[in-house]
Amino acid sequence: MNDTMMKKKLEYAKNILNGTEQITNRQKFSFMIYSIACVHAFLLCMFIALHITPLYLFNTVSVATYLLSTRLIKKEKYLPLYYITYFEIILHSFVATLCIGWKFGFAQYIIGVIPVGFYVCYTLNTARRKLVIATQSAVAASVLFLCCKFLSYYNEPFYTIDNPVIEFSIYTFNSICTFLFLILFSLIYVFEIKWTHAKLRHQNTILEQLANTDPLTGLYNRRSMQMFIDQALQSDLSFSLIMGDIDDFKKINDTYGHDFGDVALHDIAQIAVEQVGEHGYVCRWGGEELLILISNSTHDQTYQIAESIRHHVANHIFESSSRWIHCTLTLGVAIYQKGMTVSETITQADNNLYIGKNGGKNRVVM
Ligand code: GH3
Ligand code: MG
Ligand code: MG
Repeated sequence: MNDTMMKKKLEYAKNILNGTEQITNRQKFSFMIYSIACVHAFLLCMFIALHITPLYLFNTVSVATYLLSTRLIKKEKYLPLYYITYFEIILHSFVATLCIGWKFGFAQYIIGVIPVGFYVCYTLNTARRKLVIATQSAVAASVLFLCCKFLSYYNEPFYTIDNPVIEFSIYTFNSICTFLFLILFSLIYVFEIKWTHAKLRHQNTILEQLANTDPLTGLYNRRSMQMFIDQALQSDLSFSLIMGDIDDFKKINDTYGHDFGDVALHDIAQIAVEQVGEHGYVCRWGGEELLILISNSTHDQTYQIAESIRHHVANHIFESSSRWIHCTLTLGVAIYQKGMTVSETITQADNNLYIGKNGGKNRVVM
């Protein structure tokens, strides 16, 4: 593996730990199937060494089944794969317990499949009735675990292994495999939850942006402006409102087309945002009307901001089909005074705008 590939893999692992990358179903099931196949391959060797024919035959079939079932991973048929694993593990635990006895710990694998079942079914998008399948599998596994215990209690094992070291080793191996499986699946579950949270946070940000802004200009919409005005009212700091309206915009649309009008509207909005900067918020109030909130500024500063927007728009050159066009903006300013309502302030800004329009447009009226 070269350096870049190694770096990519490390980056991927880091992203999974941070929750910014999802562990795919293919990876999850490949890990599950190959690790179970490895455990069976080890048991197969052990049963050959112990001359326990039914168990080594069983494990041969199991390893072959798991290797063949990797085709299901390629076809993304995960639910049948889960069922194959579930039945194989339970049947194997049963047969092994009946063959060599309860004390070798093979029944532990039955406990291991319960949480894995919930995890696998619940995270599978293709599985309908996820909780029902997982709960039914869990109840069935619990009943089968007890049946396994009763059967081994009333029947002597078919094979007797009278060696405490072998008994202890097999029991320990089975316990370690079960615990490792549970720990690894719990970790995968945690990473999956982390990823889901990160995805939700990202979607929330997008939704919030969609809910608060205007898609054409990227400006805040009326809803957000209402929120900013409420905040300004609560803060007890002085604020002003500037109402801007593009001059002769209908004519611009009619002459150069609606698409050009959209571009001009977008560019004028950007100019307004740049000139307002940290002093306040710009919102698209109506069709080609902007409402600007300037907080905690003197009358003079507010006028300067409005004048600077007007100046920059008037000097901006808009291009349409190799023609150079100028647009202008008229702005009406109103200072919020204690005792006034917000709608009175907006009306006052609107009246000043009207005065500006009647006075020849491309001007600021305060
Ligand atoms: P005045 O100088 O008096 O403001 O003249 P005006 O033509 O700008 O006034 P009016 O309000 O009559 O026209 C506004 C025009 O703005 C009408 C409408 O077609 C156009 N308009 C509103 N929203 C949009 C938009 O999103 N895109 C485009 N291209 N045009 C829009
Ligand atoms: Mg207009
Ligand atoms: Mg208008």
